[in-house]
Amino acid sequence: MQELEGRGRLVVRNIGQLLTMDSVPGELGTAPAERILEIVPEAAVVAEDGKVVWVGLEQDLPSEHQESGRVVDAGGRVVMPGLVECHTHLLFAGNRANEFALRSLGATYEQIAAAGGGIAHTMTATRKAGADSLFAAGLSRLDEFLKLGVTTVESKSGYGLDAESEVRLLEVMRSLQTRHPVDVVPTFLGAHIVPPEHRSDRRRYIDILTREMIPEVARRSLAKFCDVFCEEGAFSPDESREILESGAEYGLIPKVHAEQLSRSGGALLAARVGAASADHLDFATPDDARFMAMQGTVAVLLPGATFFLNKKRYPDGRMFIQSGCEVALSTDYNPGSSHTRNLWLMGTMGCTHCGLSPAVALRAITRGAARAIRMEHQVGRISRGLLADFLILDVTDWQEILYLYGHNPVSQVYKRGRRVI
Ligand SMILES: [Zn+2]
Repeated sequence: MQELEGRGRLVVRNIGQLLTMDSVPGELGTAPAERILEIVPEAAVVAEDGKVVWVGLEQDLPSEHQESGRVVDAGGRVVMPGLVECHTHLLFAGNRANEFALRSLGATYEQIAAAGGGIAHTMTATRKAGADSLFAAGLSRLDEFLKLGVTTVESKSGYGLDAESEVRLLEVMRSLQTRHPVDVVPTFLGAHIVPPEHRSDRRRYIDILTREMIPEVARRSLAKFCDVFCEEGAFSPDESREILESGAEYGLIPKVHAEQLSRSGGALLAARVGAASADHLDFATPDDARFMAMQGTVAVLLPGATFFLNKKRYPDGRMFIQSGCEVALSTDYNPGSSHTRNLWLMGTMGCTHCGLSPAVALRAITRGAARAIRMEHQVGRISRGLLADFLILDVTDWQEILYLYGHNPVSQVYKRGRRVI
């Protein structure tokens, strides 16, 4: 196993703008950008053994931190937290490039799924794939995420859809976690769709989920979250609730794919069961947003899926902000509905299509995303005691970050105090 932690002291100096994300800005809709990002100009950061131990103006850097350790000169550029990717379907076999072509000619995602394509197509390929090939694919995908500045990745199962294949996917995630610098946070998504062999008896599959798969996943500590695709053609709100409550009994925190293609009732369900997040939300209403805010359920927006499926209705990020919800943005990286790993692009789309300001969008791919995976006390900010996960960007003004869209602004990536890019 390679060394995954930066031992000893690391001092980063000459930071033009340090975006710590370490504020409690209150009303995100009206707070000034500088307050949301909690910018420290002419700053320095000190890390020790992989964690941040000091943050402040460089002129205030204590002398004991100047005497030893590795020193990095940020060259007056912007430094910000490593990005947190809070919703991916990282592990799958094959691809669905042909479906992209069909959609571009007018077929819809729903029509392709009904004809046997979509998730079921990827399931068939993934069941046949061995752990080694899934692991190799996972490594190279994590490499790509890391180059783009992503230092933590949530990863869902859900292309196995039988006990053996789902467990294999989660075991591969565990191996990736020990072999790759990126932290991998596993989610059990056995309730992605009802697999074809159980279509005539859905009840049987839900029983397998709640009586066999969830207990096994929990017994072996293979996942932190239990997710459900609550949507027509996948699982109803009642079925979703049963599955999530079963997961919660075994200590798996609920998450919900909600209101993506229609008003499914998934957002209200997420709030009711105390889910960490409800994700997609293209068809969510102000009532959904208010109830989620009350329950502390994070709104995870996935504009890349809306874009790639050529849908017209994007999630209303501003509505969630005004309701007092924490908002996160994610790629939804998967082979069908959103084949991108560029979280920066999602930040830009959060501004152009979801009504977010650039400052809120940057918070949504760091601190907001960390909350969506219940890791806000480890990642997503640059603050004393948190992991020393940060990026040196090739810009000197934070406003340029999402403005040159589709571009990767990353110059250097540090994970747990160790330079990895
Ligand atoms: Zn998803």
